[in-house]
Amino acid sequence: MSNDVQFLLTAKDLPTHWYNLLPDFPEPLPPPLHPGTREPVTPDLMTAIFPENLVMQEMSPERSIEIPDEVREVYALWRPTPLLRAVRLERALQTPAHIYYKYEGVSPAGSHKPNTAIPQAYYNKLAGTRRLATETGAGQWGSSLGFACSVFGLECTIYMVKVSFNQKPYRKLLMQTYGATVFASPSEQTEFGRKVLAETPDTNGSLGIAISEAIEDTVRHPGTKYSLGSVLNHVCLHQSVIGQETIKQMALAGEEPDIVIGCAGGGSNFAGIAFPYVERMLHAGKKYRIIACEPASCPSLTKGELRYDFGDTAQTTPLMMMHTLGHDFMPPSIHAGGLRYHGMAPMVSHCYKLGLIEAAAVPQLKVFQAAVQFARTEGIAPAPESAHGIAVAIDEALRCKEEGRKQVIVINVSGNGLLDLTAYDSYLSGRMQETGELNG
Ligand SMILES: *Cc1c(COP(=O)(O)O)cnc(C)c1O
Repeated sequence: MSNDVQFLLTAKDLPTHWYNLLPDFPEPLPPPLHPGTREPVTPDLMTAIFPENLVMQEMSPERSIEIPDEVREVYALWRPTPLLRAVRLERALQTPAHIYYKYEGVSPAGSHKPNTAIPQAYYNKLAGTRRLATETGAGQWGSSLGFACSVFGLECTIYMVKVSFNQKPYRKLLMQTYGATVFASPSEQTEFGRKVLAETPDTNGSLGIAISEAIEDTVRHPGTKYSLGSVLNHVCLHQSVIGQETIKQMALAGEEPDIVIGCAGGGSNFAGIAFPYVERMLHAGKKYRIIACEPASCPSLTKGELRYDFGDTAQTTPLMMMHTLGHDFMPPSIHAGGLRYHGMAPMVSHCYKLGLIEAAAVPQLKVFQAAVQFARTEGIAPAPESAHGIAVAIDEALRCKEEGRKQVIVINVSGNGLLDLTAYDSYLSGRMQETGELNG
């Protein structure tokens, strides 16, 4: 048996193109609809808030889109990311399974999100945008976009859900370090924010409200565009660097995965590792089990409906065909803030409908049990979001042990948990609760 645990690529192995699954679907993806007319949206509706070059990517019929050199140069600050074999976790589980993990926690912001923040800032700069507006929950997306704006010389305004703004100061400080302006949402900056504050002055805020504020800010300020960190096709596209690198690294390891696993909130890091493998299923006759892992308390794939729904609370976005718990669904405040979204990326939802992927829901205590076991064996305290995938991988590895069968499992560890240690504290001290699991 080889003792190799790291499968490293060099800068020359950085992908030159993003992989676009959209034109490869055996059945076309239903288009987004105008909320008023229920007709497919036209590009000009989208260009009110997004630059034209990104709108073109959102709808692109090309399977392969070249990554601009300027973007690859910035990717090279932390990409290619490492692929490691979790031999110590395998030993602790006494499993014949081989467990590998792709580690996205090495990026400047500590997660996979800069993979799309960087190209989004780049294309906006190219299109003449001066300022980007966005929302953030616990701050992973805000800090990634703040970083990207600092790289390309754009102003950045971020509406951060008020409860996180007050209780989780470190990512707010990281955003400010990158030069971004951060408001607690609901804020006095927008009409919608002022209305919510007048009605419910003590509100904690929500991602849906913050999205509505960022969109209002965008349409009211010339030179400003809006940026979204998940869900949309072009975000899934940019994340495809993860899976493309993983395929090369698994070849270095001399193994082919049986099971590919990622956590899923809006679906982008999952899409990033999964779609290049889906491509091999569609075109190279390969067979993989690909599993999207979500919180039991916000289970859009496993318990939501596949239908047209809005992306935000104020119903300002186009209608998207996706697995959804309803745009007014208020997820319980679990610690994996990045997975608290009512919908799932239309492309990921479509894969699920076509039977190309599976889904699993994991309760919170089991997630943290897996996170701690991973930290104590592999040394990395994963983001609580990523630990959903680790928990499912552990289940699969234990099944392999029961069946006496070697299978190869690859997990996308989407981020590190160093700014989430208060969540670990809550688990370790026994204060953590299962919270609001949906029944039926
Ligand atoms: C934001 C985030 C997620 C969830 O977003 P997706 O679009 O589903 O990937 C997962 N992991 C980490 C570390 C995050 O920051």
